[in-house]
Amino acid sequence: METYYLACAYVLAGVLGLCVGSFLNVLIYRLPRGMNIAKPPSHCPACGYRLKWYDNIPVLSYCILRGRCRNCGGHISFRYTAVELLNCGLWLACVAAFWRYGIGYTVVCALALSALVVEFFADLETMTVPDSMTIGVALCGAAALVLEVFGLGAGISWQDRLWGALAGGGFFALFYGGSLLVLRREGLGFGDVKLMAAAGLLLGWQNLIVSVLFASLAAVLVMGIGRAFVRPAHVSENAQKSDDLTQGNVTDASAQADISQNVSENAENSAAPAQANVFASPAQADVTDTPAQTGTSEAIPENADGCVEKEKKFEFPFVPFLASGIALALFFGTAICTWYMGLFA
Ligand SMILES: [Zn+2]
Repeated sequence: METYYLACAYVLAGVLGLCVGSFLNVLIYRLPRGMNIAKPPSHCPACGYRLKWYDNIPVLSYCILRGRCRNCGGHISFRYTAVELLNCGLWLACVAAFWRYGIGYTVVCALALSALVVEFFADLETMTVPDSMTIGVALCGAAALVLEVFGLGAGISWQDRLWGALAGGGFFALFYGGSLLVLRREGLGFGDVKLMAAAGLLLGWQNLIVSVLFASLAAVLVMGIGRAFVRPAHVSENAQKSDDLTQGNVTDASAQADISQNVSENAENSAAPAQANVFASPAQADVTDTPAQTGTSEAIPENADGCVEKEKKFEFPFVPFLASGIALALFFGTAICTWYMGLFA
């Protein structure tokens, strides 16, 4: 009987994971742009063709249409399918890892991971962290805390979770405030601060530390590899763009659009999207919260010597690293902490 329930859980998680993944694509595109998430219905960005239900089946439609719009033949980004598959994989992993704690905890973790997927791609593509998704993570954390009180959680006490929220928010707020004071600019976005407070609630303070370690390690690795291999091509590209700007024939907004298009192209072509984006994104980027700001403010280097400017103002989206770290810590944090404590026992 147990096996029967588990099998059902896997099937449900797989199918629902794909469908929710499809909806996450809508959120990733619309939330940072302040658009309504229900209206208008899904349509082809190129020709406006309104997608029928059979054009919207996760993964399957993409394969049948071979990545092209049914109406205009325009290219459909593989990113959409990738997000569906990623979410499906995460939900299946949740059943594998958390089913033994009960269905409640499994669902809570699955939903939190989906919110993190949205934050990952939204920040990667628009340097914006949707607050609603951070609130989602926090609510999942609160739900996990309540489950814990009733003995239905993963054994991370509610005290540890509260300390996690305080530590996550507090540490990153200090870092945020410190860099404002000392460097006179934002070392990270305030969106990161809120996200880490929410993550603390979800993970507990022990696993929160693991997540920050993961995130920092990943950031250092990706930036290191990026600096070694990716840099030259993108620098000249950026220099080219800033030339265009100084000639005054491109408005700020269109240049931004141009670049973000460039970013998403890079993201889908590259095996490591985070890395591509790091170097393609202009120095636009302290902004994490308000989409409006992204379009209007900040510093694409205006002198022809874009490389130097870029060197000084090296900005990159940090949330993809944080989100990955949080996800890894959710799955492996407790095992890692136990192993680590065992070293001193
Ligand atoms: Zn079309």
